[in-house]
Amino acid sequence: MAVKQVDKTSKELYTELLGKLRKIVGEEWATDDPVILIGYSRDQSLETAHNPNIVVLPESTEQVVKVIKAAREYGAPVVAWSTGGNTGGGCIPQRGGVTCDMRRMDRILEIDEENMAVRIQPAATFGKVYVEAEKLGLRNVVPSAPASVSMLANYLDKGVFQVSNKYGVGTDSILGLVMVLPDGEILRTGCLHQDNYGPICVEGPGPDISGIFHSSMGTLGICTEMVAQLYPLPAFEDVLPAEFGEDDLENVSDFLREVARADCSLETILFQDGYLGLGLTPNQDGAETLRAQLPRQSALVYYGGETAEELEIRREQLDCIVERTGAGLSPEMMLELLKELVPWKRVFKIIQVTPRVERLSGCFELFWFNIAIDQAPDFAREFMKFARKNFADTDPESSDRPYPYEETTFYLQPLEFGRSGMLEMDAYPNQGEPEGIKRGLAMARDVIPFICESGGHFDRPYGGEKSGFGWVQTPLLGTYFDLLKDIKGTLDPLNMMNPGRLGMTADQAGV
Ligand SMILES: Cc1cc2nc3c(=O)[nH]c(=O)nc-3n(C[C@H](O)[C@H](O)[C@H](O)COP(=O)(O)OP(=O)(O)OC[C@H]3O[C@@H](n4cnc5c(N)ncnc54)[C@H](O)[C@@H]3O)c2cc1C
Repeated sequence: MAVKQVDKTSKELYTELLGKLRKIVGEEWATDDPVILIGYSRDQSLETAHNPNIVVLPESTEQVVKVIKAAREYGAPVVAWSTGGNTGGGCIPQRGGVTCDMRRMDRILEIDEENMAVRIQPAATFGKVYVEAEKLGLRNVVPSAPASVSMLANYLDKGVFQVSNKYGVGTDSILGLVMVLPDGEILRTGCLHQDNYGPICVEGPGPDISGIFHSSMGTLGICTEMVAQLYPLPAFEDVLPAEFGEDDLENVSDFLREVARADCSLETILFQDGYLGLGLTPNQDGAETLRAQLPRQSALVYYGGETAEELEIRREQLDCIVERTGAGLSPEMMLELLKELVPWKRVFKIIQVTPRVERLSGCFELFWFNIAIDQAPDFAREFMKFARKNFADTDPESSDRPYPYEETTFYLQPLEFGRSGMLEMDAYPNQGEPEGIKRGLAMARDVIPFICESGGHFDRPYGGEKSGFGWVQTPLLGTYFDLLKDIKGTLDPLNMMNPGRLGMTADQAGV
């Protein structure tokens, strides 16, 4: 399809495109009102804000097809936006264009209780699916993200969960996809490849094409439907908190690996005080108060069983691991601290169903890496050195907004029965202040190359063209990146789907 030649100004072309989009979705569901556009210009990251030219809200796969075809006619970039809760600038329209907000497509289309699967639209949230599945004794796997974010976008994005030690990452739970490709064609994969959908676990047919859409951040098309696995909920459950000292990192990683390997937990994670405080309290004051009282590191283990006896056995297994790894057990202290704030046994429930916003001062900038779990202590120590370097020199008494080093935290998530882990490093600068942006980006420039060069795996090279997180890694990828560019160039020769992401510029994408 020929792209409209630019003998008109870009403003005139966008006005024309807006008219076409309104015919597709209805007058009130497409706009170029700057007051609305600005709401799509940034997320919680330090990425440079940029407005789209148009926001459009389709209500069906058919409308998404028409939106993409219309945008293509004008050579306009298209950025998918499911609930906008990512923390890497993924939905910021770096080159303007059309932001395709999927929030009218927020339905749970079907829960198949018998076969433990759910069919969802892009804006169905984790919380919504969790609540409905729970009524049937089932659950979705959920991250420690706000419950108001999109389950589909997170699974596509290879989300990492407290339960990843057992059930893997987000993409491991995907059974089928409906993708609208950059030319407007519809591709159906996995169990959705035929109309007579049944939630059987299939890849392919043949080589699994759906894999190329995993972690593609909307650069290869828009997903309008997903079938994902659900899992059984235990009849009996409990939570075991374990406390570790500030530098007790070897014990922490031993503890997490042993718990994951023994398969005696349903969810396991190590939080530092800052992240846990933010996760458990409804507002910033509460978060800061709680952070000051929590131990620097707490591992939380949620375990369960079909009978009270099975629960008891799991607890005995956990007690043995506690003893072997020297974890300081502190349930009474934690209970005391938290009883005013949260029902303690429901601590994971809070993560599952509340729409929290986790940030101390305007932004939640994070870097996450897959590592071998025994690398965690060294990496975490280095991270805290970088945190000190970039955040510790502000005098809390004299600054308008101090950036105390203690506000940088990490958390460690065992994956794959403890074979590997995900180390997430978090900083909370203020994206509205030049000082905050400077510190956050300096931190990124320190942390990312260090981890990549030391054998950590940076599998989500997000960030935009300006902050350049993607660029840190792409030079190291060789043939892998060349093939990625070829795939992008073949599927999206006009480079219109979320251009500039994943380290790919127009040139590199083969346009
Ligand atoms: C406080 C906080 C804590 C978090 N903790 C975790 C955590 O522990 N584990 C974890 O895994 N994540 C975590 N996240 C990340 C977040 O949950 C995911 O990024 C989010 O779930 C993705 O869904 P979204 O709606 O926010 O996606 P969006 O922000 O809407 O989109 C994310 C990316 O996917 C693309 N995209 C969106 N929709 C589609 C679509 N329909 N088709 C194709 N591409 C699309 C976008 O263009 C963008 O590049 C956290 C986020 C926050 C704010």
